[in-house]
Amino acid sequence: MSPPAGSVRNRRSRRYRDDAALGPVSGIVTIVGRPNVGKSTLFNRLTGQRHAIVDETAGLTRDRLYGVAEWRGRRFTLVDTAGLDPALISEDPGIAELTRGTQQQARIAIEEADLCILMVDVRAGVTGLDEDVAAILRTGGKPVILVGNKADSPADPYYAHELYRLGLGEPRLISALTGTDTGDLLDEVVDRLPPAEGEAQERVDELRIAIIGRPNVGKSSLLNYLVGEERALVSSVAGTTRDAVDTLLEHGGHQIRLVDTAGIRRRGVVTTDIEHYSLLRAMRALERSDVALVVVDTSEGVVAQDRHIAGYAADAGKGVVVIANKWDLVPQEDRVDPETLTKISAAFDFVPGAPVLTVSALLGRNVAKVLDTAQQVADARATRMPTAALNQVLREAVTSHPPAMHRGRRVKILYCAQASSPNPTVVLFVNDPELLHFSYQRYLENRIRAVFGFAGVQLHMVVRRRADSEG
Ligand code: GDP
Ligand code: GDP
Repeated sequence: MSPPAGSVRNRRSRRYRDDAALGPVSGIVTIVGRPNVGKSTLFNRLTGQRHAIVDETAGLTRDRLYGVAEWRGRRFTLVDTAGLDPALISEDPGIAELTRGTQQQARIAIEEADLCILMVDVRAGVTGLDEDVAAILRTGGKPVILVGNKADSPADPYYAHELYRLGLGEPRLISALTGTDTGDLLDEVVDRLPPAEGEAQERVDELRIAIIGRPNVGKSSLLNYLVGEERALVSSVAGTTRDAVDTLLEHGGHQIRLVDTAGIRRRGVVTTDIEHYSLLRAMRALERSDVALVVVDTSEGVVAQDRHIAGYAADAGKGVVVIANKWDLVPQEDRVDPETLTKISAAFDFVPGAPVLTVSALLGRNVAKVLDTAQQVADARATRMPTAALNQVLREAVTSHPPAMHRGRRVKILYCAQASSPNPTVVLFVNDPELLHFSYQRYLENRIRAVFGFAGVQLHMVVRRRADSEG
């Protein structure tokens, strides 16, 4: 079998993890399109998410909706709109409803995104639904990249010419499945995104907190309690994004900024669209924060979506504090059973050491600890590891448990350094990144964490080849 055209680019697209960025997450890119064109497949490829589900069934609600993608030093939020469509999760989705749902998706996507990817199945050609969505995108005033997916092999017949009919310019043909030309797509995405706002470097001593979570878990109750208890400096200040309003508090001599409290207070009927809208808004709030308070409803138990929201915050490099709210509704025998808390912690074990606070926002129980805990996590996140001490830990780790042979060769771990990024990042220099096994990287990470902490924060590790270390 001859190598597929684009195999070189293919390799590039697989290398994106090594190019892992150090910068803050900024910008929202949304993938829209009718069911089954391959949106989730692309999402999974670009975010490398572990929990995402791809299923053959059209209309299956997807597990993971938001992820952090990285390309050439730029990190941004990627949204897979699959599963957001109310029509698709109804019992009996009629075609009319299906159409309505997909169009609605497109509208929300335009409203909240910085850039949209319209995905079409190039093997199937253009359908009426594709045309409807394209029409909405054309007038939406946001940049759009038209993607013809499932272009796996040039030998296959494509309907690429039909895609021009959508009036969105030249389509990019990719294969989300094999990765062909996804690197070029990412180049364009990164080129067309607005420049990263980033976290202001020269900022005042201020702790920035985002309160996030599913609808009805108690976010606004928590907010109200915090605002009522602490001395509110200013009840509302304009945030940087459109109608975002922040709240400033003073706590323990520090200024606290609760980011986009207007977004939290916005109440409404809980529909899938509202949830989607408020989640996108929460992603924006996260961009500007140091620590996320992930509120969960303990009376319902931790559900998948809670984990996804926390996972997103951690992937974005933010500190995570789990607020186990509505603790007053938990039966007494469960409250006194330490197992209950252990179980909640275990559900968030992908953020090592994330504090879990049992709280009743309604009654104000334990709420006093929330800001102190957030401050502790922010401090952990701001830890600077002295280079000498860090390399000492690395040397000891390698000596006590050397890396195994891989394809007859052994990776040489040379040295490491902490990157100057607000998201804790260690850059590890080795002779050949291909030889570094994932589990060994994880081992090194754990050793570093064991010495320096970082409780409640992900420690990002970037592996680089040192140019003069071949052989
Ligand atoms: P979504 O509903 O748009 O999210 O679509 P999915 O990502 O779930 O993909 C639908 C089906 O198309 C799955 O069976 C995928 O494996 C398949 N698929 C996705 N991308 C490609 C591709 O590039 N080539 C081929 N041949 N199949 C693909
Ligand atoms: P949000 O949608 O996440 O902002 O949630 P809200 O703060 O609006 O709360 C949703 C509902 O849960 C409201 O009826 C609150 O009164 C209730 N609630 C919030 N926190 C608690 C709590 O700690 N205990 C109990 N029993 N109810 C709560």
